[in-house]
Amino acid sequence: MCPMELLKRRIQQDGIVKGNDVLKVDSFLNHQMDVALFEEIGREFQRRFADCGVNKILTIEASGIGIACVTAQSFHCPVVFAKKSQTKNIAGEVYATKVESFTHGRVYDVMVAKKFLGPEDTVLVIDDFLANGAALEGLIDLVEQSGARLAGAGIVIEKAFQPGGGRIRAKGVRVESLARVSAMSEEHGVEFAD
Ligand code: 5GP
Repeated sequence: MCPMELLKRRIQQDGIVKGNDVLKVDSFLNHQMDVALFEEIGREFQRRFADCGVNKILTIEASGIGIACVTAQSFHCPVVFAKKSQTKNIAGEVYATKVESFTHGRVYDVMVAKKFLGPEDTVLVIDDFLANGAALEGLIDLVEQSGARLAGAGIVIEKAFQPGGGRIRAKGVRVESLARVSAMSEEHGVEFAD
């Protein structure tokens, strides 16, 4: 079975819909992690972004880190994760931006040390979910500040009924999502766009 079918089947089997817009996938992605599935996902991202010259993967703590690390094994490159931090006296040493958390509803300062991202890099951004797009836009902002080239973004689950994916693609960013959820409800579960 191809990785996307494997992933979709897993979401339908084990995903839990909360309200109308939160999908909990704690049993294989966000808390307990199915590393064999991660390997399939990582290989699929590598296949899609092969020949893009990716030499660095960027994600955001905490839930993107596992999937980014396994993906990096397919690209044979390092992972940098944007840190959420309250530290104020960091001017000059870091690229910083603000991200509104979808799951917690608060705004975080996120940052990456300048020494780990620069004009010599071609970056693939990886995250577990794409919803309103704040996390991905924050990561793209960090890449732009650094002068690195953005190859695109690899997302495990895009909630396509929320606006992030459309807005970011409209800016010309290549966004590859392995499972695109078109609708979901506690009553009827999850439906996929394609
Ligand atoms: P966005 O910034 O696009 O609104 O949301 C993306 C971030 O919020 C992801 O990094 C992810 O951690 C979290 N997130 C958004 N929607 C969901 C969801 O339905 N389920 C889970 N588990 N996390 C989500």
